[in-house]
Amino acid sequence: MTDDARSWLVTWLRDAHAMEEQAEAMLTAQAERIDNYPDLEQRIRQHIRETQGQAARLKECLEGMDEGTSVLKDTGAKLMATAQAVGGAFAGDEVMKDSLVSYTFEQMEIASYTALIAAAEHLGETRVAQVCQQNLQEEIAMADWLNTHLPGTTRDFLDRAAAGDPTAKR
Ligand code: MG
Ligand code: FE
Repeated sequence: MTDDARSWLVTWLRDAHAMEEQAEAMLTAQAERIDNYPDLEQRIRQHIRETQGQAARLKECLEGMDEGTSVLKDTGAKLMATAQAVGGAFAGDEVMKDSLVSYTFEQMEIASYTALIAAAEHLGETRVAQVCQQNLQEEIAMADWLNTHLPGTTRDFLDRAAAGDPTAKR
């Protein structure tokens, strides 16, 4: 029973690590294409650094649980994330599409860490619970920022597009 719960915790930590690598790839592709939304770009770049730290902490957790990280998931999700961001480049409202995807991704991260914290606490894995709590707070902050700034981004985009700015979408 305990062994089963522990192996689920390990599985979910690996899933979370893959999720963070996907996040980094997606955010990097987004940030590189933004020209006209400096606040958004800056916040994304800040979250890229946070995301790298989150992935590193998850790796430490797995190592601390004596679970090798050689079996960490491969780059399939990363490739998909990059493809998704590049795909957004074909949308006439790219910055809007990216904003919606980013907010949705943060909500998935929030749910993942909420479950991980419960699992870690259930197993008495205090360090894992702390790390997931730290990651969770960064995801909540990013989700809040995106949500707060979405109306402004929307108005900016609409004004630029209406003015005929061909780079309005990025
Ligand atoms: Mg994250
Ligand atoms: Fe995030």
